[in-house]
Amino acid sequence: MQLTVWTYEGPPHVGAMRIATAMRGVHYVLHAPQGDTYADLLFTMIERRDRRPPVTYTTFQARDLGGDTAGLLQTAMREAYARFAPQAMLVGASCTAELIQDDPAGLAQALDLPIPVVPLELPSYQRKENWGASETLYRIVRALAHPPRESPPNRRTKRARSVCNLLGPTALGFRHRDDLAEVTRLIVELGIDIGIVAPWDATPADLSRLPEADFNVVLYPEIALTTAQWLQRQFNQPYTRTVPIGAVATRQFVDEVAQLAGIDPARALAGAEQRSSWYARSVDSTYLTDKRVFVFGDATHAIAAARIAANELGFKVVGLGSYSREFARDVREAAASYGVEALITEDYLEVEARVSELQPELVLGTQMERHIAKRLGIPCAVISAPSHVQDFPARYSPQMGFEGANVIFDTWVHPLMMGLEEHLLGMFREDAEFNDTAPSHLGSQPTPIADSPTHGPIALPPAFAGSTWTAEAEQELHKIPFFVRGKARRNTERFAQERNVGLITLETLYDAKAHFGR
Ligand code: SF4
Repeated sequence: MQLTVWTYEGPPHVGAMRIATAMRGVHYVLHAPQGDTYADLLFTMIERRDRRPPVTYTTFQARDLGGDTAGLLQTAMREAYARFAPQAMLVGASCTAELIQDDPAGLAQALDLPIPVVPLELPSYQRKENWGASETLYRIVRALAHPPRESPPNRRTKRARSVCNLLGPTALGFRHRDDLAEVTRLIVELGIDIGIVAPWDATPADLSRLPEADFNVVLYPEIALTTAQWLQRQFNQPYTRTVPIGAVATRQFVDEVAQLAGIDPARALAGAEQRSSWYARSVDSTYLTDKRVFVFGDATHAIAAARIAANELGFKVVGLGSYSREFARDVREAAASYGVEALITEDYLEVEARVSELQPELVLGTQMERHIAKRLGIPCAVISAPSHVQDFPARYSPQMGFEGANVIFDTWVHPLMMGLEEHLLGMFREDAEFNDTAPSHLGSQPTPIADSPTHGPIALPPAFAGSTWTAEAEQELHKIPFFVRGKARRNTERFAQERNVGLITLETLYDAKAHFGR
């Protein structure tokens, strides 16, 4: 076992908590020592949920270990049933409690509660959070799903509209709340009804009706693929393969869903708003074209981000990786298509080493990569869990669908533009209006217009004597916005003069830019 300060995923029981917390009418009894209750904070502090997760911990202590810990677990189950009156109960052990081998499944059975009790065996030392969420969803669906009342062909002829379920959104998921709204809108526009959304807001009774739908939409394969595959084997329900992240994938997703429902996708696609595609074409190539980008995250988001970066924004993918070991093959395939070797690891130090070695111009990653990029001075945007409290915004901010593509465009391109602003701040550092002691435009002491140093037309000062610009350097200077061009010229000439450089070349211009931008 390796000790670590940072970890991409929690233990599998945190995945089970994400399912229980997303649902209604479910309670999770977790055999766990006192300290493991920290997991509540992930939901109340980071996701800012207004309620505690529906979890009862046995909170045994060291002194209990010689006694009847199995009895503690049974008491907790009995009390949780009496207090919360759930429609179904999950029961399992945290990593520490797994070691005392109290057999939660057998103990639950012996209690004979009058509700379905689903025991979870989550091997904490081999598996992680997303696997735990996937396994929990699969176990609870398997325990509760009823065979459909009608077989698929009869169902199809009896219903005027197709019905699909949406599988995968959980508590503590990266933008799951907003993805769900966006995908629901797309599907409803197609004229398809939504059956059950699971686990988000679903009750145990809802899960029992999952097999009634015509097909399933898998939003997050890490969470819902195993369940969708089981539903297909068991009830002949097909499921979607395309994850609608990015404008191109969203179009493919609409086509795939329309095909499963046997309808024409034109209606949903006709009204599609795609500012992101137009914006990407319209942005100055300085910001996008061939920018070297490093991508790391869960498999779904990392693969999608690399695809958008390369095919929709014109970036060059120089590194791609994931901590999702279960989906390593997909990540490797994607990486090979960009001519890079996939980095599959749960060790952030390995990721940091790869980023330092590649020196990308933009990092797309988790909150870990945000810290790494910040340390290395590289612009960064967060594309995947694990994420920080600020990645659960109050505003609508999906990643999926056409609006998701717009959000992604804004989030990725702005850090690159901020780089330019910082460079401008460097150039202006010595100007009066950028001086900390100068009156602020937000402050209470407005500068009279007549006194303002910037009032009136901007006059370019004469060049320093002896400085000559090559045509190429002069041309490059003209790419700098007019309102800072004069300053850039002055700074470059001063830089050249101080170093006795008579001819200002492209290189001198870049060196001066780097010097003043420091
Ligand atoms: S990274 Fe931010 S949100 Fe996460 S635990 Fe630290 S302070 Fe809290």
